[in-house]
Amino acid sequence: MRSYIALAVFAVVVATTGMSAQQGALQSAADALKVSTIKSLQVTGSGANFSVGQNYTASEPWPRVTVKSYTALINFDSNSMRTDLVREMGAVMPRGGGAPFFGEQRQTQVVSGNYAWNLGAPGPNGAAPMAQPNPDAAAERMLAIWTTPIGFVKGALANNATTKGNTVSYTVGGKYKVEGTINKQGQVEKVRTWFDQSIVGDMLVETTYSGYKDFGGVTYPSRMVQTQDGFPALDITVSAVMANPAVTIDVPQNVRGFQPAAVRVESQKMGEGVYYLTGGTHHSLAIEMADHIVVVDTPNNEARAAAVLAKAKELIPNKPIRFVVTSHHHWDHLGGIRTAMDEGATIVTHQSNKAFLERVAKTPHTIAPDRLASSKKAVKIQAVGDDYKFTDGKRVIELHRLQGYEHTGDMMVVYLPEQKLLGEPDAFTPPAQAGGGLIPPAVPSAKALSDNIKRLKLDVQVITPFHGNRTTNVAELEKAAAGPATN
Ligand SMILES: [Zn+2]
Repeated sequence: MRSYIALAVFAVVVATTGMSAQQGALQSAADALKVSTIKSLQVTGSGANFSVGQNYTASEPWPRVTVKSYTALINFDSNSMRTDLVREMGAVMPRGGGAPFFGEQRQTQVVSGNYAWNLGAPGPNGAAPMAQPNPDAAAERMLAIWTTPIGFVKGALANNATTKGNTVSYTVGGKYKVEGTINKQGQVEKVRTWFDQSIVGDMLVETTYSGYKDFGGVTYPSRMVQTQDGFPALDITVSAVMANPAVTIDVPQNVRGFQPAAVRVESQKMGEGVYYLTGGTHHSLAIEMADHIVVVDTPNNEARAAAVLAKAKELIPNKPIRFVVTSHHHWDHLGGIRTAMDEGATIVTHQSNKAFLERVAKTPHTIAPDRLASSKKAVKIQAVGDDYKFTDGKRVIELHRLQGYEHTGDMMVVYLPEQKLLGEPDAFTPPAQAGGGLIPPAVPSAKALSDNIKRLKLDVQVITPFHGNRTTNVAELEKAAAGPATN
């Protein structure tokens, strides 16, 4: 009996000191936000999201896309969330990149535990939409739950958070640090987390919450602004919040059993020592020089880049890859650049990217270490102006920056005078079926490419686009650049 009481007293002392010294800010937030009474949440609003990794130049903000409606449904107990967006685009895209679309676009993004998927449009006769597995988005979407004000506090209470003044931090999933600041009213003002991004490494995602008010009994911010890698990525004005709606999110069978396809690099010989490397979503070129290889673009991620570099060496044996040219700085095309750095190649880029690539070469990758993080190789970057020529005395490779091109300010197209071949990403992707038209926002890009070919007086016989399923030519480009036929 005596020892039982002593133990109980000891427990109370530990709990009390813990509370007063460490838990003050966290407990005040738990009380102010009534966290223990909230199991699920629906948040509705509108505003904008931004095309991360698609800025016009590497130092500008991400391009903005209007979000007409935003609805997030969260179940904190099952660690699942569904976000429905209706985005809107006119005939002219904002300056910079991003997947072109026209009119209204519905997006549904779902996460449950380690599984992430997207839902397309409903099938015929209202059939349930098909789930598209998206495992690469799982970490980001899981962290989106734990960086909401209520999710943050729940996570802190469940994960042994440490408190320093008004800053509370903890780790989820063993590797993702989450850190938030709580004001005197017990409102979560800012939450920071980091997830892996193949180019910029441990990428900071910071969400700022402001304008807390009472939404029918739920204290919630009326505005949330999230930045990724320093620029706004999401900006939502909240119009309604509902506590404890029914939220059941089951992982579809095809998502649960999904195995990503093996990385495949196909090659098409475009002339002696010139190879068009396809087989994925983003294509590359491998060009043989007298005593080395030049590769143009190592896209997507480390796996794709490694496969592209291996294919180049298989097709052009016994020569090192001395140069890897980056067509432009957009993250989808640049995704494997650190693999190219680790290969020991000199990275050739437009001068406007030099500072960004120097940062990329050194940025910490502790969440998901890549090859360069392990090898710590010295990185060589060669910045070039608007026009540049490689030559080995025989073959010439020309690089030209597209002018008047709103998609990006640093697009270098590749021209091989001997083959009369032009390699270009994004400016013109021929429709899968010859004769198919472009959507209105894609027309100005095709026009810019056509104008630049004329300006530079390039004699182009074949165009190898870095997207799509076939090569094309100037005649088809010019037809597309003229826009939809008007009858
Ligand atoms: Zn691009």
